[in-house]
Amino acid sequence: MHKNKLLTYCILCLLLISIIVPIPITHAASFDSVVNTLAANTLETSNAQTGSGFFQQIFDLVFNKILGPVFNIFGGSSSTSSPSKNNPVTVKPLPPTSGTTLKNKIIVVDPGHGGSNPGAVANNTKEADNNLAVALKLRDKLVQAGAKVIMTRETDRTVAPEGSSLSKELEARVSLANSNQADVFVSIHSNSNSDPNIKGAMTFYPTGKSSALASAVENAVVVQTGAIDKGTSAANFHVLRNTSMPSTLVEMGFVSNQEEAAQLNSDSYRNKLAQGIFTGIVNYFNNN
Ligand SMILES: [Zn+2]
Repeated sequence: MHKNKLLTYCILCLLLISIIVPIPITHAASFDSVVNTLAANTLETSNAQTGSGFFQQIFDLVFNKILGPVFNIFGGSSSTSSPSKNNPVTVKPLPPTSGTTLKNKIIVVDPGHGGSNPGAVANNTKEADNNLAVALKLRDKLVQAGAKVIMTRETDRTVAPEGSSLSKELEARVSLANSNQADVFVSIHSNSNSDPNIKGAMTFYPTGKSSALASAVENAVVVQTGAIDKGTSAANFHVLRNTSMPSTLVEMGFVSNQEEAAQLNSDSYRNKLAQGIFTGIVNYFNNN
């Protein structure tokens, strides 16, 4: 029994020496041949190139299956002057996302009215509240996508000091956009008409200037909400006329229409409106 035990120790020692000795020799090989070895997909392929053998298999196992993936990770950023043709390391560019489209874009979101100026009021709906609720949701989506968002107001208040004239109030909104050199200006409103049957979404662009931003917003809002598409129109509104960047004013729906008033009051419809305006802005930047 004792002799058998000694013999076993001897065999184990020989095995250990056989494993340790070949590794420094292999490490002396050129970097490219190591890369080739690492690039081999299977033990069989590797054996065909480097000769088979039990210890070679252990070595291949350790490097191909365990260290190989680690080497491959670093291989991408430290490529040599003569990379192996079989090197599996490839760096694929990520597809563009909405985040990259809006990254660092300066977007002014302007919820119409507020404070002492409630805008259109009908069917228990106040325009200023609808505008602000949608604008805040839009702000969050834009920020999430990497844009720099400037809100003309984030509470129920006027933008100019309370009691200022309407022209001063509108000029305060324009001034925020122009002084911050915004990329786009988006004003959010709710519509009203003496005919309670009229409903739908419509979007305005500055007279004599591009309708691209307005079209992108109108199309996406209609798709997102299912609202009647009342199209885009040129307009001479103060905030469109005086902003120096592409600007648009969206009338999301009619508070004078009972059905749309109820929708404008609801959180789920406000989410759809915000998502529609957001998608329109993304589409605009993707195509312009
Ligand atoms: Zn309005």
